[in-house]
Amino acid sequence: MPSKKHVSIRTCAVCRDKDNKRTLTRIVRTEQGVFVDLTGKQSGRGAYLCDKPQCWQRAVQTDVLQGALRVSLSVVDRDRLRQHTP
Ligand SMILES: [Zn+2]
Repeated sequence: MPSKKHVSIRTCAVCRDKDNKRTLTRIVRTEQGVFVDLTGKQSGRGAYLCDKPQCWQRAVQTDVLQGALRVSLSVVDRDRLRQHTP
């Protein structure tokens, strides 16, 4: 049996595109709100967004990301995500 190299495949919460971690940004839910997790290591419930601006816009404007994170996005959270839109 050849050894399989482990590659993390993530799915964009909005468009469901699958890719490796590189092109997807982790969004993490913490007690302080919803943040863009640039380290990918922050603890908390996470979801991923790809690098398409429309996915970030939909994440802010629709319930998709809220559903993935099981949390309501506050105005501050939405503003924060807008600032990170690719
Ligand atoms: Zn996407």
